[in-house]
Amino acid sequence: MAKMMDMETKIGRRFEGKVAIVTASTQGIGFAIAERLGLEGASVVISSRKQKNVDEAVEKLKNKGIEVFGVVCHVSNAQHRKDLIQKTVDKYGKIDVIVSNAAVNPSVDPLLRTLESILDKLWEINVKATVLLLQEAAPHLQKGSSIVIISSIAGYNPQPAMAMYGVTKTALLGLTKALATEMAPVTRVNAVAPGFVPTNFAAYITKDEDVKKVNEEKTLLGRLGTPKDMAAAAAFLASDDACYITGETLIVAGGLPSRL
Ligand code: NAP
Repeated sequence: MAKMMDMETKIGRRFEGKVAIVTASTQGIGFAIAERLGLEGASVVISSRKQKNVDEAVEKLKNKGIEVFGVVCHVSNAQHRKDLIQKTVDKYGKIDVIVSNAAVNPSVDPLLRTLESILDKLWEINVKATVLLLQEAAPHLQKGSSIVIISSIAGYNPQPAMAMYGVTKTALLGLTKALATEMAPVTRVNAVAPGFVPTNFAAYITKDEDVKKVNEEKTLLGRLGTPKDMAAAAAFLASDDACYITGETLIVAGGLPSRL
C-alpha cells in the first residue's frame, strides 16, 4: 500500500503575506486545506454554520501557530456571505485565496423521485453559493489571486444514490471554466475533484469495513484519500507554483476511473 506522506514535515511557505478564506472549514477537507494554507504562512479565515465548531477549529489552528480568524457563514445565507467577506477585509485588508468547499448531499432518492425543495437546496449550496460569494469578494481580490472550487470525482460520473449531488459537482467543472474566463488575468480559478475521503460527509462509504474495502480496491493506489491529500492539491492550485494554470480541475482520487 502506498505510504502516506507526513505533509507537516515537508511543506514550504508559499502563502507568506497572503490572506485565504476557506468555506466549510471547521472539519474534514476544508479544515485540512485551512491548516495547510496556514502552515504555509497564510492568514486564514475559516467558517462554517455553527459558532461552536468555528471556535473549536480556530483554537486547534492557533495551537499550531497559525494566524487564523473565524466567522460563522452558512454559505446559502446572503448576510453571512457578506459578513465573511467584510470581516475578512476589515481584519486583513485584502483577499488572495478563496477555497469554495461547502456542499450537501441531503437525499439518496433517484432523480425522478427527488423533491423540488431538495433539488433547490443542492443547487443553492453546491453551485449558486460559490457564484454569490465570489460576487461579494470580487472587489477585494488581489492581482495574482486564486480561487479553488471543491468538486468531486462524482461530477465525472454521477452515481445512483447521489445522482443530483453528482450533477451539481459536474456543474462546478463548467463553472470553473466560465469563472476562469471571466476573472482572468487578475484571478486564476481551478477545481479539485476528490475521490473517496473518510470524513463525516462520506461516512456512508467508509464506516462499514466491507464497503470501505470495496472502495479502496477501486483505486489504483489501494487506499482511500485523506483530507491532507486534498489539501496538498488545493494548496498547489492556490499557490504561484500553479501560476500558469487556470480553468482546470485536478482529480485527486488515487487513480479511480475518471477520464482519459
Ligand atoms: P465534512 O468533513 O463533513 O465537513 C463538512 C464541513 O462543512 C463542516 O465544517 C461543516 O461545519 C461545514 N458545512 C456544512 N454545511 C455547510 C454550509 N451550508 N455552509 C457552510 N459550512 C457548512 O465534509 P468533507 O468530506 O470534508 O466535504 C468537503 C467538500 O469535499 C464538499 O464539497 C464535498 O462535496 C467534497 N467531497 C468530499 C468527498 C469525500 O469523500 N469526503 C469526495 C468528493 C468531494 P458546520 O456543521 O459547522 O456547518
